[in-house]
Amino acid sequence: MLLSKLFIPITKDLPSDAKIKSHQLMLRTGMIRQSASGIYSWLPLGFKIMKKIELIVREEQNNIGAQEMLMPTIQSADIWKESGRYDDYGEEMLRIKDRQGREMLYGPTNEELITEIFRSSIKSYKSLPQMLYHIQWKFRDEVRPRFGVMRCREFFMKDAYSFDIDEESAKKSYNKMFYAYLKTFKRLGLEAIPMAADTGPIGGDLSHEFVILAETGESKIYTDKKIFEINLNKFQFNDTSLENMRKEFTSFYAVTDEKFNKGEFDKLVDKSNQIITKGIEVGHIFYFSDKYSKPLNCFVDSQDGNKNSVKMGSYGIGVSRLVGAIIEAKYNNDIMKWPKLISPFDIVIIPSISKNNKENLAKANKIYQDLKQQNVDALLDDVDENMSAKFKKHDLIGVPYQIIIGSKSQGDKFEFKEINGETKILSLKEIKDKIKN
Ligand code: ATP
Ligand code: MG
Repeated sequence: MLLSKLFIPITKDLPSDAKIKSHQLMLRTGMIRQSASGIYSWLPLGFKIMKKIELIVREEQNNIGAQEMLMPTIQSADIWKESGRYDDYGEEMLRIKDRQGREMLYGPTNEELITEIFRSSIKSYKSLPQMLYHIQWKFRDEVRPRFGVMRCREFFMKDAYSFDIDEESAKKSYNKMFYAYLKTFKRLGLEAIPMAADTGPIGGDLSHEFVILAETGESKIYTDKKIFEINLNKFQFNDTSLENMRKEFTSFYAVTDEKFNKGEFDKLVDKSNQIITKGIEVGHIFYFSDKYSKPLNCFVDSQDGNKNSVKMGSYGIGVSRLVGAIIEAKYNNDIMKWPKLISPFDIVIIPSISKNNKENLAKANKIYQDLKQQNVDALLDDVDENMSAKFKKHDLIGVPYQIIIGSKSQGDKFEFKEINGETKILSLKEIKDKIKN
């Protein structure tokens, strides 16, 4: 892509409500544009990054055997009346009437709809367990939309649902998701801590929020430093190993303020290992048994000839929130740092250009074509601007690697810079090896 052709409306003017770094940087780099309170358009740069995050989320869901599908954004109110949540959900739900006066709503989540789909097609224990997911826009009329994409009204979410014949089997599904979440966040370059969350009237211990540490987070968190030392790679993908994995992670104290108890914290965690900071919730998994399947009459024949209510769990990841959350976790002095896997480009080529020197641009173009042929997604800064303005801009955009074609690049050796510091003089082959590994 040529920078001169890229639709990237970089701006210095920020609205007064852009209080946190991710919100500011996303607006400044033209990743998003607000269209109404808590509702954003995703412009090419932001969209590209979000799609890369979505891809990783999808791969890890597929890896544990969850199947992708797509449910609509607009739902009928009927199923929500069956579950009893039509009234309970309150003002966060956006309610709509169609031209026949039928009550509809913009889905804030999908437990009812997926249960309705399931009950109409699955009749026997033989078809269980199942895990289904989709990645779709949600709408919640939040009281205070804020922090850009972190707390929106319209946001992009992966939500998965598991269906099992009994609690024991449901636990295995839960463990698989627990594992998929840890893997997903790790690949995104994040350290997400699973934190015990409220299970409400259902009870039990199967509800976890995945929280990443960030000063700008909305929840206060309390955890044991040792939880970061667990090596996820040592667990295998089988029921016993995954059960051990969950037990190990949950053996460490890790809660948000909702569940915090100072006495307990001091008793269980050595002072020197106590971490008290803020965090951003990027995912939430929840086993809720037959909370929805019972009122919605979702039963299957069990092996002993009885009818069992299906035992369900739901599992969300805030895909659009993650874009902001990753910025919050990684930015440094106005320099955005995208992990390689989700960076909008693999590398940016920055030639020093002036009216009477087009040689660098020609050189840059050659490199650009060469990289393109090898499927390296490069951005070529072909804009006639001074180098310091260019560097500022690329610090802002945060592509992890730069090839700088100026006085230090000679012959077939080029100045190669990694966004967090190091500069080297390398041949094109060495550069390619570096970005490919
Ligand atoms: P929160 O406590 O932040 O409101 P929640 O408990 O309502 O979250 P869930 O219903 O579990 O969230 O949704 C799953 C995920 O969707 C959350 O972990 C979060 O990453 C994301 N999410 C929830 N609400 C929003 C929102 N208003 N804007 C952006 N992302 C959201
Ligand atoms: Mg909420």
